[in-house]
Amino acid sequence: MRRRFKCDPKWITVRYPARCAEPNCQTGINSGERAFYYPSDKALYGTRCGHGEKAERDFNAHRIDEDDSKSNSERNWR
Ligand SMILES: [Zn+2]
Repeated sequence: MRRRFKCDPKWITVRYPARCAEPNCQTGINSGERAFYYPSDKALYGTRCGHGEKAERDFNAHRIDEDDSKSNSERNWR
């Protein structure tokens, strides 16, 4: 069972070297760089390759589809 709403993805500062989770990407993410993180999948998407922004856009698009009115209060990520 997936708990999508309790594991919202978010921007984090990476504390250890990792790789972009996009298949066929594998761009390195250095510690100190920002990345878009999906806790439910333990997946990091990098900014250098642009997949972080893409993942964020995808997520926000889904969220707006699902619930347009309630999401404002949850926008305090930054
Ligand atoms: Zn990537």
